[in-house]
Amino acid sequence: MSKCIFCGIIEKRVQAKILYEDTLCLAFEDISPKAPSHVLIIPRKHVESLNSIEEADDRMMGHLFLVAKNLAHQKGVVLSGYRIVLNTGPEAGQSVFHLHLHLLGGRPMAWPPG
Ligand code: 5GP
Ligand code: ZN
Repeated sequence: MSKCIFCGIIEKRVQAKILYEDTLCLAFEDISPKAPSHVLIIPRKHVESLNSIEEADDRMMGHLFLVAKNLAHQKGVVLSGYRIVLNTGPEAGQSVFHLHLHLLGGRPMAWPPG
């Protein structure tokens, strides 16, 4: 049994508000939302970070973005705009070491990020 919290969500041992799932990925509401819409999109495969992806993961990575776009439609933020974030490593603030896209929307966002 994996100790990874996101693998726990995939295996349904850990509760989450799941919005979408298919053979490659899962999307669920962030437990501590940083915007009115804050969804996490994760691959079913446990990959620690962007640093760990390989050539064979290219379809999976592309799929995560396609699902993020569909969820942006579902959340109604396509016209107002949204941000996809993929924190990688300590200085980027990665806190869960199972690769995930953040889909953030529903409020104006600053640039550059803090
Ligand atoms: P990171 O900081 O690694 O880029 O993002 C991790 C995200 O996962 C954070 O936004 C955090 O709120 C979220 N998170 C951490 N643990 C859980 C959990 O158990 N359930 C859900 N739904 N989100 C979580
Ligand atoms: Zn995992």
